[in-house]
Amino acid sequence: MADTPNPIPGMIRGMSVTWKTLFTKPVTVNYPKVKEEPHPRARGVIALDQDACTVCMLCARSCPDWCIYIEGHKEEQEPSKPGGRVRVRAELDRFDIDYALCMYCGICVEVCPFDALFWSPEYEYGEQEMGELLHRKEKLQDWLETVPDAPALES
Ligand code: SF4
Ligand code: SF4
Repeated sequence: MADTPNPIPGMIRGMSVTWKTLFTKPVTVNYPKVKEEPHPRARGVIALDQDACTVCMLCARSCPDWCIYIEGHKEEQEPSKPGGRVRVRAELDRFDIDYALCMYCGICVEVCPFDALFWSPEYEYGEQEMGELLHRKEKLQDWLETVPDAPALES
């Protein structure tokens, strides 16, 4: 029969870690009573600039979780000058992101060719109902206010 390992050295090592931790400054804070300022480039929530979106669908097609839902239609617009060509513009009807599915990979923000998606560090949008985590385009537009200014370019 194999000898039973002596548990005492392991227990002493464990207790020494406990004692050391008791007298060191905690690395966590007592949220929500205490709130830490997130890093400006933290991936909190995605903001949408509806005016910049051309309904190209690239973000929705690139999303690994299929959690971006877009619908749009085309509208004809008057030519810019008499005799000119009638222009067609895509209008956004629906743009939803389901944060119950999103894994915050950032691919949608990276692939958007028209700079219509931005990361905001805002993180306080937890909900009691999972369905409430579906943010519609109006709400995604509102997040735009919380997007920090882009850092200055290096000279
Ligand atoms: S961050 Fe990733 S998972 Fe979330 S919506 Fe964008 S592409 Fe999809
Ligand atoms: S990739 Fe950009 S422009 Fe295209 S649908 Fe998505 S947000 Fe709109």
